[in-house]
Amino acid sequence: MKKVLGILIVSMALTTSAFAKVAVTVSYETPGTRLETMVMKDIEASMVPQAVVSLLNENFVIKRPLSIVFGGGEGPLFDPEINAILIPYGFVIEVKTRFEKSGYAETGVHPDEATMDVLMHTLFHELGHALIAMYDIPVLGKEEDAVDGLADVLLIEYVENGREIAISAADLFDLESEDRMELSEEDFSDEHSLDLQRFYTTLCHVYGSNPKEYKDLPGETGLSGERAEFCVEEYGKLHDDWMTLLNPYMIR
Ligand SMILES: [Zn+2]
Repeated sequence: MKKVLGILIVSMALTTSAFAKVAVTVSYETPGTRLETMVMKDIEASMVPQAVVSLLNENFVIKRPLSIVFGGGEGPLFDPEINAILIPYGFVIEVKTRFEKSGYAETGVHPDEATMDVLMHTLFHELGHALIAMYDIPVLGKEEDAVDGLADVLLIEYVENGREIAISAADLFDLESEDRMELSEEDFSDEHSLDLQRFYTTLCHVYGSNPKEYKDLPGETGLSGERAEFCVEEYGKLHDDWMTLLNPYMIR
């Protein structure tokens, strides 16, 4: 299916490593509406895709050319057949609308900024699926939880203000959970954990990675003291285990 137009190669390999013949590309499908055009411009201007591509090319050995494609109807998802991460404009519009409607600006973070934070978290989440597929990385438990964890680790360890970006992503899970008056069979049978669980787990990782700076976070968000007590260990193990698994594929 040849539907990718206007391919923009943002960044090719930046290092001289033997493995550096990397091609992580970002492309944008032609937007179908004015709103989609605006969103496409927002994504480009945010530099989020560029930051993700640079992080990948500087730190990871990418076995097969990986593309990040914005636009289209499906996603967010990783498609192993074409080794591509697909993010529809509609997803970004939906996230933005949700932040705007919730009065998110009151938190001090503009909805536009929070939307791009979610986009970065989502790209890292899908990248997790891509790495697992590309390298047959073992996963115990739900893969969706595992890649949420990787997104947190990459944000916290590699991205400036990554903890704040993770908090925006957590807040979206919280907003999504508020949309449901009651949980259905579908929610329980879903491959993802419940939105509120994803919210608290992300916060646990943020707090656990820097309990001094985020000492008020459990109290402010309702993260139970019982869980918070183990967040330092939880984040430490998550970080160390991901680094162990990714070590063979990282550029030193
Ligand atoms: Zn996923």
